[in-house]
Amino acid sequence: MATRSLVVKIGTTSVTDNTGGVAQEALEQVARDVVELRARGWTIVVVTSGAITAGWSEVGRGRPRPSDSVSLQAVSAVGQPLLMHAWRDAFAKVGTSVGQVLLAPLDFSHRGQYLHARGTLEALQALNVVPIVNENDAVADEEIRFGDNDRLAALVANLVGASHLVLLTDTAGLLTADPRLDPTATLIEEVTAFDTELVDVAGASRSGVGSGGMASKLAAARMATWSGITTVIAPAHAEHALLHSVTDSPGIGTTFHPRPERLSARKSWIAFAVASRGALHINQGALQALEHHGRSLLRVGVESHVGNFVEGDAVEIKGPEGQVVAKGLVRVSAESFHESDDVVVHRDDLVLLRRS
Ligand code: GLU
Repeated sequence: MATRSLVVKIGTTSVTDNTGGVAQEALEQVARDVVELRARGWTIVVVTSGAITAGWSEVGRGRPRPSDSVSLQAVSAVGQPLLMHAWRDAFAKVGTSVGQVLLAPLDFSHRGQYLHARGTLEALQALNVVPIVNENDAVADEEIRFGDNDRLAALVANLVGASHLVLLTDTAGLLTADPRLDPTATLIEEVTAFDTELVDVAGASRSGVGSGGMASKLAAARMATWSGITTVIAPAHAEHALLHSVTDSPGIGTTFHPRPERLSARKSWIAFAVASRGALHINQGALQALEHHGRSLLRVGVESHVGNFVEGDAVEIKGPEGQVVAKGLVRVSAESFHESDDVVVHRDDLVLLRRS
């Protein structure tokens, strides 16, 4: 993992203004900080939202925004080039070139594709070009879309082996309550462990145009911190928000500290990037063997299985009470499950998910 490598994601409400057009000044502020950090030895990938909102401001002519996914995907095709144009202008002002990389969930699921995407991002950095990433909204199948760039940014951070993930948004960070409902809400500056209370605090807050909200930021932070990545949620509008997020201590916003026992890149990939194709329900004895003795999952420990998985697919592993306890790559297909070898999920392909 590179010690000074960061992924910064800017949300829709920060990238666009109240007419839905691109907020050029906000992009320029990010570009200035990116160039400053690069001068200090950081490598940086930008993840941008805002394609759909910018696209609708171009073609919507004041009509209410559509909500069906086919229209939204089409609108993103209008907005994405507008967004890139704006990023190009913003970075031109600080003498830096940008490159567009559009990623879809499948790019993360197929390990070959995943390594390929990593190669492209690295090659762009070698060319001194700042990669600007968004989801490939126009063509991604609705069923398998990420739908929010917080998750995408966390996966990209994992992909490039980043040390930091910064989510720039329209709040001061993670607050103790929703400030619209509770005026006494205060900023939580540091988070060292995820617990259910924290997830309750985040609630299901959503702004009008972005799709993430605080819950999706927390999910991204959890994913990143499990991968050993320090995560900061910070206010996009603050002066030098990006710079202060990673260089100051205490910085701004909320900092989530990485777990000490971080997952390897491959295990994070299994845990967070690959879609599950089924589930295995295991018994108490097997759960014990997995959680307390670091063993592989054996066929005798599996009570039942669901899904049409084939060898190499990811599956969820559920405990006796039906709770997800782990995720792993199966060595057998659902079809030949009962004729298989003893080891169903090898310990090297297994990630325990219950540790906070
Ligand atoms: N990819 C979407 C866009 O560019 C944004 C998703 C999000 O709001 O996080 O419009």
